[in-house]
Amino acid sequence: MSLPNHTTFCERYGVRPGAAVDLSTIDPNDTGEFKSLKEASKSLKKLRKKLRKYQDRFYAWNQKSLLIVLQAMDTAGKDGTIKHVMRGVNPQGVTVTSFKVPTPEEYAHDYLWRIHKAVPKKGMIGIFNRSHYEDVLVVRVHNYVPQNVWSRRYEQINSFEQHLAENDVVILKFYLHISLDEQARRLQARLDNPDKRWKFSKGDLKERKLWDDYMAAYTDAIQKCSTQHAPWYIIPSNNKWYRNYVVAQVIVETLKNMDPQYPDPEEGLEDIVVV
Ligand code: ATP
Ligand code: MG
Repeated sequence: MSLPNHTTFCERYGVRPGAAVDLSTIDPNDTGEFKSLKEASKSLKKLRKKLRKYQDRFYAWNQKSLLIVLQAMDTAGKDGTIKHVMRGVNPQGVTVTSFKVPTPEEYAHDYLWRIHKAVPKKGMIGIFNRSHYEDVLVVRVHNYVPQNVWSRRYEQINSFEQHLAENDVVILKFYLHISLDEQARRLQARLDNPDKRWKFSKGDLKERKLWDDYMAAYTDAIQKCSTQHAPWYIIPSNNKWYRNYVVAQVIVETLKNMDPQYPDPEEGLEDIVVV
């Protein structure tokens, strides 16, 4: 399917606030206007150049920060997205935070405490590898807290994100959408390849058995928390190259819309000759 000229990637893959979400109707094999990586490689290269240009301006501009949330089932490619999409950007302007099982200190605080501390400062792009959404995903699926506790968190998260958005944090949230079959292939590949085995955890098989519960939890998280100020994007991710392409497109469109400018230079520089 080709992308109509007037449609941006933000519009195409973004979830409109209030829209119903049915993940089973979204094709994880979608590759947009391309049939193969080979066909897309020129566009990918051009896109990477654009991302580099806009990040350079964004960093120099120093007026806003960009928070990128990555959520997905195991093997969907959170690590790969960070590695490939951010290739070539200035590392000085990027932070990556991975949220694991909370430490005892983190558990002793409210669930947003560790999140707020990691929000990027102005000029920076901050990437969250997992996020506060774990507190309505894994926590909900495993009943780590009662329903009357996790069910209130959607509104709390919306308020928290609104607070950030009103304070110069631009937020993008990506759900990397893969199929159950594709996950099986990727988990098997991890087992078969000695260099990938370190990424395999027996726990992943246990979580895989809860696939439907996770899909229900993701559906609610995306549906209840895709807002004007912090939209969710559902990214077809069975093909890694297309996943990277769409994520990069959404980031570039978002940076472009912000129209970051290099700060004005000092006055009177025209006549200076450096000897
Ligand atoms: P990934 O699987 O994302 O590539 P990893 O394998 O390096 O990361 P893991 O040790 O699997 O890292 O850590 C992530 C684990 O922490 C996941 O199982 C995730 O569900 C869990 N986790 C993250 N946040 C929370 C939370 N708030 N409460 C409970 N568990 C959480
Ligand atoms: Mg893991």
